[in-house]
Amino acid sequence: MSKPIQAAIQRQVGKALTIERATLAAPQPHEAVVRIEACGICHMDLDGPSLCALPAVFGHEGVGVVEAIGSEARIKVGDRVILGYGSCGTCPSCAQAHPYYCDQSWDVTFGGRRLDGSPTLWDNSDTPLHAAFFQQSSFATHAIVPDHCLVPMPRDVPAEVGASITCGVMTGTGAVLNVLDVKPGETILIVGAGAVGLGAVMAAHRAGAGEILVTDVRDDRLMLAQELGATAVFNPRAGAMDKWVMAQTGRGVGKLLETSGNATAFESAIASLRTGGHMAYAILPSPMDKYELKPMALFEKAARFEALSFGNSVPQDLYPKILDWWRAGEFPVERLIATFSFADINLAMERARNGDVIKAVLMMEYADAA
Ligand SMILES: [Zn+2]
Ligand SMILES: [Zn+2]
Repeated sequence: MSKPIQAAIQRQVGKALTIERATLAAPQPHEAVVRIEACGICHMDLDGPSLCALPAVFGHEGVGVVEAIGSEARIKVGDRVILGYGSCGTCPSCAQAHPYYCDQSWDVTFGGRRLDGSPTLWDNSDTPLHAAFFQQSSFATHAIVPDHCLVPMPRDVPAEVGASITCGVMTGTGAVLNVLDVKPGETILIVGAGAVGLGAVMAAHRAGAGEILVTDVRDDRLMLAQELGATAVFNPRAGAMDKWVMAQTGRGVGKLLETSGNATAFESAIASLRTGGHMAYAILPSPMDKYELKPMALFEKAARFEALSFGNSVPQDLYPKILDWWRAGEFPVERLIATFSFADINLAMERARNGDVIKAVLMMEYADAA
């Protein structure tokens, strides 16, 4: 049976979202309806209108409680869950537990419907909305999610902490641990100190990296990076990043994570590598920037360039680990969080876009909440 909900709808590019009454589809056999407790805001939500048709409902960092399930769902009503990113669950990569290499990743993330083409959400005049964003669209009181994308979340973890470790922080953490494989004593350069970059700083610090170099154009973020484990920081407004890196290391870095999505930083990052270096690229390139990737720049250095999806992370593996580290005080993700009520979604989006907050998290409120 379909369900009336409230959803934040983006109807026009550059315009405010409006919280409206909408109708959620009934769950299919392997789906769950999740009552959303909190949802983080990520740059993909801000860039949503350049990736998807409108009107749309974004939001892909949700946590909540399972309220209804399909007939064959592998989850129970009442379970508390973090909503992982979308994957088809059936392609060869998904079958090998590599959902970040899902053959249908783009469709499942930005296609606006289920993979079978059916809509999951309608507005108040019964017009289908572009939804199922990352197979969730959790800028809403409720979301419909495939059961294989759900990760159990302990009751004692605050909702905003669960929401904050999803897309961005997971990506940075996964890039450091799964891809760059930072070992004790090693040096890493992290370009950009947003949620992805600071997740990477915490992961590198926890992994025992010797030198953690961090660059960002905002000094407040560099200060926070230092508090989270960065050993040296640099604002590229003061000069060329690659020259600073060479001065710090003498030969360039062997491990580098680019999280700025900025064309100038991208070129400077390649110039910061040592011969044989490994550069992981973890964020949507700015749609406004012109990139000029010259193969020679990589070839001269016999460098490895690797574009990542979600930091090559498997939410079912990584979320429980991050929450354990958080509980032990080794991963203070709360330092990144600013909470907003769902009603203030436009303020939260604006502050995220300006960079005034690192991880804005919307808190849903319910009249019947215990
Ligand atoms: Zn797949
Ligand atoms: Zn995201």
